[in-house]
Amino acid sequence: MPAQRHRGTHDVVVLGVGAMGSAAAYHLATRGEDVLALEQFDVPNAKGSSHGGSRVLSSAYYADPAYQDLCGRALALWRDLDDRRDCRLYHPTGWLSVGPPESDLVASTRANCERFDLACDVLSAAEVRDRYPGYDLPDGFAGVYQHEAGLLHAERCVGAHVTAACAAGAEVHGRERVTDWHPTDDGVSVETDAGRYRADRLVVTAGAWADGTLELDGLVVPERQLAAWFGTDDPALFGRAEFPPGSVATGDGVYSASPSLERPGVKVTRFFSVDDPVDPDAFDREPTAEGESELRRFAREYLPGGAGPTLSLQTCMFTVSPDEDFVLDVHPDHDRVVFAAGFSGHGFSLAPAVGEALADLSTEGGTDRNVAPFGLDRFGP
Ligand SMILES: Cc1cc2nc3c(=O)[nH]c(=O)nc-3n(C[C@H](O)[C@H](O)[C@H](O)COP(=O)(O)OP(=O)(O)OC[C@H]3O[C@@H](n4cnc5c(N)ncnc54)[C@H](O)[C@@H]3O)c2cc1C
Repeated sequence: MPAQRHRGTHDVVVLGVGAMGSAAAYHLATRGEDVLALEQFDVPNAKGSSHGGSRVLSSAYYADPAYQDLCGRALALWRDLDDRRDCRLYHPTGWLSVGPPESDLVASTRANCERFDLACDVLSAAEVRDRYPGYDLPDGFAGVYQHEAGLLHAERCVGAHVTAACAAGAEVHGRERVTDWHPTDDGVSVETDAGRYRADRLVVTAGAWADGTLELDGLVVPERQLAAWFGTDDPALFGRAEFPPGSVATGDGVYSASPSLERPGVKVTRFFSVDDPVDPDAFDREPTAEGESELRRFAREYLPGGAGPTLSLQTCMFTVSPDEDFVLDVHPDHDRVVFAAGFSGHGFSLAPAVGEALADLSTEGGTDRNVAPFGLDRFGP
């Protein structure tokens, strides 16, 4: 095979430009690092895990103080990025967690709010119906509304980090796939379908492709997810002010609903709908009728005004770790390589703090953030 053309030398290559890679590229570039970020698809794209219009940011979701620390830092960083733009990334909508009072979802949200002193309102089903009439909850359900929570524009956030990274000097290439990487005596060699680069260090933020890229031996597993947007003939019930994003614990699992941000309609997803591991390079991205019906059943029962005609359907992937917490660490065999993977259906909202911690680890070998609970060593040798 002919030797690949050498295309340049950089301080750091970032492999994968989704939520995490775009944030890492930004934080590295603002420190004066010469950054090259490589993305196999478009920037942003709808083939990984960072698309679908919106993402919820809510610290009440997390029981671990380390998540609370990351969440607080991420919110400050999103606001900072927002302040420098004329087009909003973050909308403070609050977040609603509803279900039977004894359900894990409601009980843990309430406990997290109490433990971490997060402002919230504890509501009966009637109070939820009265305040947010888009939600039609059965008597006996309870709700916890967290005030300091909100919605992020998903693709816009990736784009904002990329734009800011480029403004700080980063080079970002879409449609260039990394085909291999290996350590060298004084750095890392990164091969792509366009050539070969040398770098002092590598940051891997490959999402659903992380396991293969890092040879993690099946530790983080991609699963297929579906999001649906259903029409409504009563849009006044489902705007951002009247309809906070919410998660609902039903007898059939936890579903989520959000007001429209980019796409029209009420967005509905199911948390861990199907245990459906996929090969990210080879799975059928076409939404299934069965997946659509499952989401529609939920919408009919709990958001009847928002269960109109299907407007759009989109597949996405969760990349799931064994304990459903992510991994952020230095590669066990190569200390010039740091990575973050396995966000297990959450984590988008944490991206700026994750990107900053990756930049800390890559440039300084350590970080002030408490990332110890996210180390690879928790899974044993
Ligand atoms: C339906 C759904 C709803 C969600 N809701 C929420 C929510 O409300 N709140 C929240 O916080 N989180 C949520 N999440 C989770 C969150 O969106 C993900 O954890 C997060 O987006 C993962 O980002 P990432 O950068 O790790 O992965 P990705 O966005 O997939 O980015 C990885 C990138 O690496 C690229 N790549 C991989 N291999 C290569 C290679 N060899 N060469 C070049 N490029 C490569 C991929 O193409 C991809 O673009 C949700 C996820 C889904 C799917």
